[in-house]
Amino acid sequence: MKILISDSFDASLPGKLGRYGEVFDDQSRLPEADVVLVRSKTKCTREYIDRAPNLKLIIRGGVGLDNVDVDYAKLKGITVRNTPEASSIAVAELAMAFLVSIPSLLISGHMTMVRGEWAKKELKRTELYGKILGLVGIGRIATEVAVRARAFGMTVIAYDKFIPESPHAEMVTFEELLTRSDFISLHVPLTPETEGMINAKTIARMKPGIVLVNTGRSKCVVESDIANALNSGRMRAFGTDVWHSDPPEWDTCPLVKAPNVFMTPHIGASTKENLLRIGEVIDRIIADFAREE
Ligand code: NAD
Repeated sequence: MKILISDSFDASLPGKLGRYGEVFDDQSRLPEADVVLVRSKTKCTREYIDRAPNLKLIIRGGVGLDNVDVDYAKLKGITVRNTPEASSIAVAELAMAFLVSIPSLLISGHMTMVRGEWAKKELKRTELYGKILGLVGIGRIATEVAVRARAFGMTVIAYDKFIPESPHAEMVTFEELLTRSDFISLHVPLTPETEGMINAKTIARMKPGIVLVNTGRSKCVVESDIANALNSGRMRAFGTDVWHSDPPEWDTCPLVKAPNVFMTPHIGASTKENLLRIGEVIDRIIADFAREE
C-alpha cells in the first residue's frame, strides 16, 4: 500500500504507518498513492482526485469534510473518512481559553506590561461566575465546553436544531439564546442554515456588551456586521479561531483591524495530544482498510 501524507500530522505518524507499506510526503507522487491523508490545507477537489488513479481511501484528520469533494470521490469508488471525535477536547479548550482570557483582560494586561505601563487601576476584569453562556449547537465540542463552563459557575444554555435535550445545558430557542446570553460560543457546522446566522439582525437581539467566540466555522458569522458591532461598542469582544480563508485577506478582512477582536490562526485542533489522537484513529482506519483489501 502507498500512503501519501499530504498535510502536517504528528511526526510519529509515518513511522507508525510504515507497517502498512510505503509512506511518503512527496506531492508529486500523488498518482501512485492508494491512500491520501489530509488535514485542512490540501483541497481534494475533482482535479486533485483525477490526478490519483490508484486512490482508494482519503482520510481527513479533523471534523468536517469541507475540503474534500466527497460526492466525486464516491463516484470514483474512493472511501472518504474523517476523525470527528478526536478533536473535541482540543477545540473546547481553545473556546474556554477565549472565554476565560477575554473578561480576565489577559492580553491587555500582558501588552501593557510589555509596553512598560502599570495599568492596575485601568484594567477592571469581570468574572465568568454566575454569567450565562449560550452555546449554538450542543454536539461533541460544545458538550465539552458546557462541562468546563459549568465548573466555572456559569449557567449554560444551548440551541441545537437537532438535539432536544442535553444533561449539560438548558435547551432553548435561538431567540432565547440570543437575548439571555452574556457570552455566546458557536459550535455548529457550516450549512445553508447556519451560514451568516450571526449578522446585524441577530446581533441586535443580543445583550449590549455581548462576548462572542467562534471556534466553529467562520462563515457562520457576517464579518462586517461583527466589525460594526465592535466599532460601535454593541459587542464587547469577539474571539475567533476561524477565517473565511486561511490566512485571512489581511487587507480586506474587516475583523483583522477591528477593536477587541482576539485572534488565533485556526489552531483549534492543533494540540500535540490531538495530533497523536488523530494519528491513532487514522492507524485504526488504515488497519481496517488493509484487512478488507
Ligand atoms: P458536532 O456534529 O458534534 O456538533 C454540531 C452540532 O450542531 C450538532 O449537535 C448539530 O445537531 C448542530 N446543528 C447542526 N445544524 C444546526 C443548525 N442549523 N442550528 C443549530 N444547531 C445545528 O460537531 P463538533 O465536532 O462539535 O464540531 C462543531 C464545529 O466545530 C464544526 O463546525 C467543526 O467544523 C468545528 N471545528 C473547528 C475546529 C477548529 O480548528 N477551530 C476543529 C474541529 C471542529
